[in-house]
Amino acid sequence: MSENYIPLYRKYRPQTLDTLVGQSHIKKTLTSAIELGKIAHAYLFTGPRGTGKTSTARILAKSLNCKNGPTVKPCGECESCRDIANSIPIDVIEIDAASNRKVEDAQNILEKVQYVPVNGKYKIYIIDEVHMLTNHAFNALLKTLEEPPENVIFILATTEVHKVLDTIKSRCQRFDFRRITTSDIVQHLRFISDKENINITDDALFLIAKNSAGGMRDSISLLDQLSILSFSKQIDVDDVNSILGRISFDVLLKLSNQIISSNHAAAI
Ligand SMILES: [Zn+2]
Repeated sequence: MSENYIPLYRKYRPQTLDTLVGQSHIKKTLTSAIELGKIAHAYLFTGPRGTGKTSTARILAKSLNCKNGPTVKPCGECESCRDIANSIPIDVIEIDAASNRKVEDAQNILEKVQYVPVNGKYKIYIIDEVHMLTNHAFNALLKTLEEPPENVIFILATTEVHKVLDTIKSRCQRFDFRRITTSDIVQHLRFISDKENINITDDALFLIAKNSAGGMRDSISLLDQLSILSFSKQIDVDDVNSILGRISFDVLLKLSNQIISSNHAAAI
């Protein structure tokens, strides 16, 4: 693979609210909030993995800090937009609580909260898997949420909302991300396949979507893995099955027929 290889899920990560797949209820509410300038101090994004929580958090950050912002159509060209797209923003701090569980890290967050935004209009903290924070860190976060400094916004994301303290939940605007429907995923995979010249059948795309239980990222990663085959042939259901380590229904049917007819050699 070349050095410039970008995984498909990153290449096709949505950059604006209207390109987010599914989650129409969330798109609608956030769009009006941005248009009306009604920005909350804290958001809580909950839902299964791969349903767009982190992508939406980044889009929201971009929408707020774009030089034209708050806007539902961030320009994608100003310093703030480019920084967020390249994952090196100064005013957007991403914390993965799953890997930063220590109390010192939470204190570290709070120290930084006191600084004013450098380039953007808001200092935005995206805390992924927020339920993984320790109790101490939770309390530190709670204290900040009780009296949020001006121009500071927290976007908390979690796959396990029941593990988040009620006192935190009550201070956030909550958005529940739903599993993306199979047909929405198939449609998006078809869009990507066409753009990338990946030769694949509709049935194969359907199987990929079905297998990832409403998670877009897993679906795209699987398509990415399979795409290598399409240089020599059209990718079909059997290819998907073999990469998933599963036996296709056809093979299973043939096998059972051989067993029923006591054709041992063929069954083996
Ligand atoms: Zn911009």
